[in-house]
Amino acid sequence: MFGLSRLSLRLGGVSRRHGDRRLIATVVSGNKTARQVKQRLQVQVEQIQSRFSGFRPGLVVLQVGDRDDSNLYISSKLKAAAEIGINAKHIRLPSSSSQDEVLRTVLGLNEDPEVHGLIVQLPLDSDRLMDQDLITNAVSPLKDVDGLSCVNAGRLSRGELRDCFLPCTPQGCMELIAQTGVSVAGKQAVVIGRSKIVGAPMHDLLLWNHATVTVCHSRTRDLPDQVGRAEVLVVGMGRAEMVRGEWIREGAVVIDCGINHVPDDSRPGGKRVVGDVHYASASQRAGFLTPVPGGVGPMTVAMLMQNTVISAQRFLQSQTRT
Ligand code: NDP
Repeated sequence: MFGLSRLSLRLGGVSRRHGDRRLIATVVSGNKTARQVKQRLQVQVEQIQSRFSGFRPGLVVLQVGDRDDSNLYISSKLKAAAEIGINAKHIRLPSSSSQDEVLRTVLGLNEDPEVHGLIVQLPLDSDRLMDQDLITNAVSPLKDVDGLSCVNAGRLSRGELRDCFLPCTPQGCMELIAQTGVSVAGKQAVVIGRSKIVGAPMHDLLLWNHATVTVCHSRTRDLPDQVGRAEVLVVGMGRAEMVRGEWIREGAVVIDCGINHVPDDSRPGGKRVVGDVHYASASQRAGFLTPVPGGVGPMTVAMLMQNTVISAQRFLQSQTRT
């Protein structure tokens, strides 16, 4: 794709020439891809149910406290689960809960055979001192469908991709990259952000899919220069519209994980959601670009559902073996 000045891209039925200043990036829709993933999962769950007399994959979302943004994310997870046929349960502990109470709840759910996926909604909204890592690591690696435990993260970092649960946001990004038809193997990939939930596992996934990966963070010097090298760019920094189109290499695949609320008086509620990439200018340079909203967000939810179904399938296999 890169360096091919005559490559034609299509958007909304309009074909444009790469290298032409009027190039507009192809929009990579997470809504559409997530819908396809969920339809496939729904069929799989129906097959499991008919084969194992009514068995349903079970997912628990454990929340501490009552953050508005967490409530919103949880409701979209519960809605997706209901659509697919996953038996999802939301457990909310009060923000006054002690760390021991949270840990006891996690350990109890680890033992429950009807729970195949268990996630702790982050960030914890607690009045008490909480060790977030201790709590996410208490989730059984067999049920850790967020892929955040040390065991799953360690396996991913070693390239043991089939033996772990892949974290949902980076996995969703890989699915969206796959939608473009661009293979990451041998490409220069740049990830902005090194968090446990987005940047670090994104690095691992790109690396083990054979990209050459650079990870940028808040101490990186000359971010525009690094961005300009990327044939594949994944951004998860939590800085509204910081990555400008002028920084982006022409024709690059650009995946924007950012979810930022910015003031906008023209909208109900007085704000709107934007990504970490400045969409209007990026769409003049990138070959492929994910929108915000409707890009990585829905894919994160779809990948959580996929991990839950995989976990339930593994559980059934372990039962039929014994
Ligand atoms: P974190 O705050 O945990 O991490 C942000 C990362 O970006 C850090 O590694 C930080 O560097 C880096 N960073 C911050 N500022 C800069 C800068 N100026 N230049 C270069 N790097 C910088 O955020 P998350 O990883 O949890 O989330 C990132 C974004 O993705 C957020 O907008 C979040 O809302 C969104 N998100 C979206 C999801 C989805 O489903 N779409 C799911 C999860 C997150 P350092 O390590 O040095 O501090």
